[in-house]
This record gives sequence, C-alpha cells and structure tokens, in this order.
Amino acid sequence: MSYQVPRGTQDILPQEISKWHRLEELIRQFCYVYDYEEIRTPIFEHTNVFKRGNDSSDMVNKEMYTFRLENSSTSLTLRPEGTAGAVRAFVEHKLYGQPDLPLKMYYCGPQFRHERPQKGRMRIFNQFGVEVLGAKDPLLDVEAIALGWSFVSALGLSDLKVLINTLGDDESRDAYRAALREHFKNDISSMCTDCQRRYEQNPLRILDCKIDHDLPIMQSAPKMSDYLNEASKTYFSAVLEGLDALGIPYEIDDRLVRGLDYYTHTVFEVVSVNKEMGAQSTVFAGGRYDGLVEYFGGPKGMSGIGWAMGLERLLLACEAEGIQLEEQQGLDAYILCLAPQAKIAALQMVTELRSNGYRCDMDYLGRSFKAQFKSIERKHAKYAIFLGDKELETKQITIKEIATQQQHTVPLDDVVAVMDRLFGEIEADEDGCACGHHHE
Ligand code: ATP
Ligand code: MG
Repeated sequence: MSYQVPRGTQDILPQEISKWHRLEELIRQFCYVYDYEEIRTPIFEHTNVFKRGNDSSDMVNKEMYTFRLENSSTSLTLRPEGTAGAVRAFVEHKLYGQPDLPLKMYYCGPQFRHERPQKGRMRIFNQFGVEVLGAKDPLLDVEAIALGWSFVSALGLSDLKVLINTLGDDESRDAYRAALREHFKNDISSMCTDCQRRYEQNPLRILDCKIDHDLPIMQSAPKMSDYLNEASKTYFSAVLEGLDALGIPYEIDDRLVRGLDYYTHTVFEVVSVNKEMGAQSTVFAGGRYDGLVEYFGGPKGMSGIGWAMGLERLLLACEAEGIQLEEQQGLDAYILCLAPQAKIAALQMVTELRSNGYRCDMDYLGRSFKAQFKSIERKHAKYAIFLGDKELETKQITIKEIATQQQHTVPLDDVVAVMDRLFGEIEADEDGCACGHHHE
C-alpha cells in the first residue's frame, strides 16, 4: 500500500517554503502601500455563488469540484476563483454602504479546478488577487494593473508583457455578439462542441477556444474594435493613457476576451514570453466587471475591477528567468550538548535565547560532538555554544563564532547579554540592522 498526493496537487515541503513566505510577505507589503486590504472568504461556497445562470466558461461548466453531503440538499463547491466569494461577501455584509468607496481588497489562497494537470496547471493552485469594488474610473483599472505590474517587477521578472483589450459596454458587446453569430453561422456545426455551446451562450468566448483557434474562420472573425461605441472608446483610451503615464508597457490584443462572462470594458493578461513557460504563460489576468454586485443582491451599477495571479506560475516564471527567491536563513546559535546531564541546562538556554528573539536549536539525540557540529554547518548557525559537564560545574560557557573561529568564554547566566553584544557588533559592522531582532 502506498499513499500519494492526488493528481494535480502537490506538497510544499519545509525546504521550499521560504520562497512562498517571501512571496506572501511581498504581497502584503505591496497591498499595504497600495492601501488594499485583505479579505478571507470560505474555501467552499454554495454552488450558485460560482454557477451563475447560463455562464459559458469552462471553469464553471467543466472544472468545478461540486459535492453534496449525504442527507443534505445543499450543493457546495470548492472555490475555483476568488472574485465571486469576494463580491458575495461585499454584498452580504453591505460593504457597499461604506463611506470610502471603492473598497480595495486582496486575497491569497488556494483555488480548486478539475482540469488536466500539466506544467503550470494544477488542480489545487494558489492565487493572489485583487478586487476594487464600488467605483468606476479608468484610472482604477490602471491602478490595479500597476499594483500587479510593480509586484512582478519587484521580484525581478522582465520577460513579461501586458496584453490588453476592451470588451466595451453592454451596447457595444451586444452589437459585437450579433456580428460574431452572423460570422460563425455557417461554420459552427463543424467546430468543437464547446464552441457550439458558446455560440448559443456567449459567442465572444469562441475567440478564446484553444481547439479551433487556428481555423481560418477564426482569423477572419470581426473585431471588437469595430463595434465599440464612443463611450467605450473613450473609456479604453483613458485606461491606455493612464498606463502610458505610469510607463507600463502594453500591447493591444483585439482577440483577448478572457474566460468569464461578466467582464465589461477592460480585459488584460500579463504573460511571460520566456520560452520555458510553454502554453501556460499567463501569470495574471483580469478585467472590469459590471453586474456582479447586483447579481448577488447589491445595488445596481456598482462596478468592479480585479485580477488574479497564479502563484505556482509566478514561481515557474521566476525559475525560467533564473530568479532565486529562496533564502537561506541560518540559526543564530546552536547549543552543543556534550553530556546527558547538560540537556536541561541546554533546554533552558535555548528557551531563554528564543524568548529574546534569537533563532536557535540544540541536540536532542545525544549525538557525538562531530555529529552535532555537522548540524551546525547544515543549519548555518552563526554561533556554537558548548555545554557539558565542565561548563555546568564552572558556570562558564564558550561561545564560538563559526565564521571567524573567535571564542568567548563568559558566565553561563550572561548568555543573552553576550549574544546581544555580539549581534550588536555585527550590526555595527554591517552598518544597519540585518539580523532581524529587536534590540533595546
Ligand atoms: P487558462 O487560460 O490558463 O486556463 P484562466 O483563464 O482559466 O487561465 P484565470 O481564471 O483568469 O485563468 O486565473 C488567473 C490566473 O490563475 C491564471 O492566469 C493563472 O496564472 C492561474 N491559474 C488558472 N488556472 C490555473 C491552474 N489550473 N493551475 C495553476 N494556475 C492557474
Ligand atoms: Mg482555465
């Protein structure tokens, strides 16, 4: 009998967690300075939060983990995306009544989609996303994109580009849908079954098809830009003007329609052009949406803009560009326990050091001096502290700096004070605090 993680899922092991922490810290930092606040919604919701009416997206129609517990009539779904839950909460808690709209939120956590696993495509994956609700201003579209763009730039990614398009307002989109129906009318029966469904539900989504993508009838399809009314054109120009003003480079992609039905006006994708990324190259993507707040029972006309970033894909993009996020944080001290009788004193010492903010550890296995010293190397400890019979008797201990081999023999009770002094010196040498402790 063997046990393995389910297909399309993964363990993130202790030795690789540091890059996730790094990402999560940076996410908080960026959202903090942009004044976006975190929202945490349930991992599962009532199915109708995600499955709304006649939605044509693959995500809703084919990829959801939906379940019903025995003896229950309630259908629940593991969240496949973050927007629906955030908007549901916005309405449920009447956050639209707040004085300072728009409400700017972000989230970070796992999403669940039942799709064919590939590199960069998992069944459980993590998204960082933002939602700005309750105001419609093209410069908010710009701000949201700028947050994501500056975040990925801060990581050092450079093989990225912004693809942007507009789907216009309802009137423009209706006109465009009619044109698409007309265009595909004679060929739709020979296209894939998904496209046939999309033809009925939302012909815009045909342009997003990964199967029929290269058919000539696709290439000759009418363009959204020819169906935009003046108001939609004006809105889009204002978004582009804002991106120009912030120096964010973009490419207009008039085939970009995005996967969800509720988008209006701006849609965009930030893709990696690095060859190693293969087909799964979109790092983050989103757009403006109208009607979702109203759908969940909130007031009419409350618009939103949001995007979501796949963190596994972000990590692949970093890897492809040779960007290292792992950091090797060593121990401040390792206590070498040189006699069984010294264990209690060692435990007291690590506890005291820890409560003063020092990251330290000790040997619990009664290993040889040599074996314990190997741990010091592997754990990149800055100091070794020796504790054996002699030390217990004389109440004097030796602290050895590993890098310089310099030794200090000090009273056992002074260990914290001595460490403070040693780290204070390191700090002074390095010209500023780098060790992560708070010192009085
Ligand atoms: P795709 O066209 O690649 O299926 P999507 O349109 O389904 O993407 P969104 O729903 O917009 O993707 O999700 C936003 C981001 O989340 C994607 O750009 C990607 O980075 C990430 N993402 C989506 N699905 C997965 C998945 N199954 N595994 C890993 N990351 C994913
Ligand atoms: Mg998808």
